[in-house]
Amino acid sequence: MMLSRRQSESMGDGGAPGSVAASRRRTRARASAAGRRAPVVAAFLLAAGLTLLAASCAGPEAETGPVDRKVLVLGIDGLEWDIMGPMMETGRLPNFSRLVAEGAWGELRSLEYLESPMIWTSISTGKLPAKHGIMGFTAKGGGRGGVVITADAREARTVWDILGEKGRTVGVTNWLVTWPAEPVNGYLVSDYIKFDWRGVGRKQEDTTYPPDLAEELEDLVVRTEDVPDERAGEFVVGGLPVADEFENRVRTLKSCIAVDETARRIAFHMAETRPTDFTAVYMSGVDYVCHHFWVDAFPGTGDPVSDRESELFGEVIERYYQEADSVLGEFLELADENTTVIVTSDHGHSGPKLRGDKYAIGIAMHDPTGFIALWGKDIAGGRELSEPSVLDITPTLLALYGLPVAGDMDGRVLDEAISDEFLARHAVSSVDTYEPDTSGMEEDESESPVESPVDDEIKERLRSLGYIE
Ligand SMILES: [Zn+2]
Repeated sequence: MMLSRRQSESMGDGGAPGSVAASRRRTRARASAAGRRAPVVAAFLLAAGLTLLAASCAGPEAETGPVDRKVLVLGIDGLEWDIMGPMMETGRLPNFSRLVAEGAWGELRSLEYLESPMIWTSISTGKLPAKHGIMGFTAKGGGRGGVVITADAREARTVWDILGEKGRTVGVTNWLVTWPAEPVNGYLVSDYIKFDWRGVGRKQEDTTYPPDLAEELEDLVVRTEDVPDERAGEFVVGGLPVADEFENRVRTLKSCIAVDETARRIAFHMAETRPTDFTAVYMSGVDYVCHHFWVDAFPGTGDPVSDRESELFGEVIERYYQEADSVLGEFLELADENTTVIVTSDHGHSGPKLRGDKYAIGIAMHDPTGFIALWGKDIAGGRELSEPSVLDITPTLLALYGLPVAGDMDGRVLDEAISDEFLARHAVSSVDTYEPDTSGMEEDESESPVESPVDDEIKERLRSLGYIE
């Protein structure tokens, strides 16, 4: 959370310091509102504490010290059990089915507010938004659509920060709210790598760490207009429509494909050229297609689409899940016997919500229950997790690496997912916190979001998803 040069600029004469300050006040106000959920936090902490207490009584054979392990976290936004269940039963998602059959799985509980940036940051910190400070896509100020919230607003350390400090190499690709890219013990390809930096009058500085990585990855970025018609046609019944009237819908489909194709290509390039102990990859296409093609698949559940559209685009969602399954299969091929894989969503999807006589879209389409599965080394097979939460992922990752869980985290170790043998050898321990001691330091302005030259493109995407006005 450094005050970067770019941020200093944005807060100077050329920027809009008033709006940034306003957004910060707004963030603070929302943070304190979220703080009223303290009893929930207390319950979480109590549960986590009891787990720790029980685990610390493990036998004398318990080992301490580093665990040699690789972990891949594949984050897929918006995975919905109600869609996956029937597809798994009919054999159409073989790789997800394999995870569930051989691993530990559950219905993942999300947060009270279903805004992806705050949830993915809770996943990567183990903390509620009131503690990590990422309160949504945008904050008030900054003109139409508000200020886009960036990584500078994050007030908690991520699991990759902690793992890196403990000597593990880490690699992060496309995780939400990771721009400007902060230094890590490995690489970080921020979620801004995919935006169009051409013609904005500056280089895409700070989209990656190390900074010179951005240039190497430039050719791997797939833009909407790069997606061939035949590729988009794979998701459309009978192939691509020739009628110009569906041009916008095809373009939308291509934009969904482009963002995931970018993340996939970069993640595999990095895995091949810079393998790391910990790898996290985020993909948003499933969520996007659910927003854009829900009513085609489930006619009558939102503002009507024509029969022709429903016929053409009615299978986009299912076909996209099959695409996600095949990408998962590729990732599983990368996993050796020393690798643990966690596949997680942030929330599920349940379509537009009728409010009065209008259908609400955007965040209203998110469902509080998502998908999670753990698989591979030291995972107990065939177990259903007991009310797993997005807050539990970071504590579980730390435990899998034999590292203490922090008392100021709001989740618990999903110990029922971990083999009894591993837990007996590596008792879960705890520390008070991994946060730096900032007492006595003057609070600077580094928590404010940073403006970027691609903000308009980002806000346009958020608007198309119905997330912002
Ligand atoms: Zn969504």
